[in-house]
Amino acid sequence: MNTIQAKDYSIAFTEEGYKLLNQNIKENEYSKIFIIVDENSNELCLPNVLPQIETTAEIEIIELESGEENKTIETCVQIWNVLIELGADRKSLVINLGGGVITDMGGFIAATFKRGIPFINIPTTLLSMVDAAVGGKNGVDLGGLKNQIGTITNPELIVIDSRFLETLPQNQLRSGLAEMLKHGLIAEKSHWEKFKNYAEISFENFDILIAESIEIKNKIVTEDPTENGIRKALNFGHTIGHAIETYFLENETKKTLLHGEAIAAGIIMESYISLDKKLITLEEFSEIKTTLNSIFETIEINENEHQNIIKLLIHDKKNEYGKVQFALLNGIGNCKINQTTDNETIIKSFLDYKN
Ligand code: NAD
Repeated sequence: MNTIQAKDYSIAFTEEGYKLLNQNIKENEYSKIFIIVDENSNELCLPNVLPQIETTAEIEIIELESGEENKTIETCVQIWNVLIELGADRKSLVINLGGGVITDMGGFIAATFKRGIPFINIPTTLLSMVDAAVGGKNGVDLGGLKNQIGTITNPELIVIDSRFLETLPQNQLRSGLAEMLKHGLIAEKSHWEKFKNYAEISFENFDILIAESIEIKNKIVTEDPTENGIRKALNFGHTIGHAIETYFLENETKKTLLHGEAIAAGIIMESYISLDKKLITLEEFSEIKTTLNSIFETIEINENEHQNIIKLLIHDKKNEYGKVQFALLNGIGNCKINQTTDNETIIKSFLDYKN
């Protein structure tokens, strides 16, 4: 698989990835290497990564408890303290080995520690490979609101090793698929079409699909790193999706949703809003809804919960001047940013989703 060139770093696959990792370590003569993992990436992925690293520098493993509920500033404070206790300095390297929670939080920890130390992402979930680890955004949640605190700081390198997906539970794999589908919908119809018959996807050649998806995200974030324009397209499905995710996270009576599960619902609802604005045809909407419904289960959302979820949209960090901002589809393979709609249409999108 060819290496993908991001603005000032590379995204490299398997052998080439580990080669570039060792080259980076050699060139930079790091004082110490800190590998941030959670208990799952520690057990399932670290044993495959450690033998790949060629260095005389001391390697410390820092294990965090997995789960979105731990993606907080409190966890960061603990890790900053551990880094200081273990003698991290400005010549140290952080390697984030894990899913999006680890790459988001580890990136933020490194980007802010001593005003910023270098980090390398080795994503271990599909979602983090095609999305979270790519593009430089990192951060933590605040009081149940997603990704409120963070920076945009690029890693030194991203290593994609899709063999990690062998141990990933099916629902986590689907969670990553939601972002891949989004990439096709907003930017490349041919990528979207490869997922239309989900049952027929060959996971043997999955690296090609992963690479295509990364290319789409990388192209968008390279053009607009600070999200003033086209990067907002990546928020398609995420305005409503994030609100649903937050609502389920905050309510103890609700099961916790995976990021991609909430985004899949958001994609269907925001496609409905695109249809309402005549940006896509009814055929395109049906194609999107049928495809998404063939991969994801419908999330149970009662009618009396709609208003509470809509209230959460007000906190969306993408809002400008107090107005809820949507990135909507403009035909399959294209996107229209800075769109608004009324609450009535949002409620209609919830009702349509249920049917
Ligand atoms: P996650 O990091 O919680 O990982 C999901 C689960 O899989 C965890 O239990 C983890 O321990 C486990 N796991 C990781 N690798 C595994 C492996 N190889 N085998 C078996 N289990 C494994 O969640 P995620 O879905 O990877 O990422 C979600 C996070 O990513 C959210 O916090 C979201 O906000 C963030 N995100 C960030 C961006 C961005 O641009 N920064 C984009 C999208 C999502």
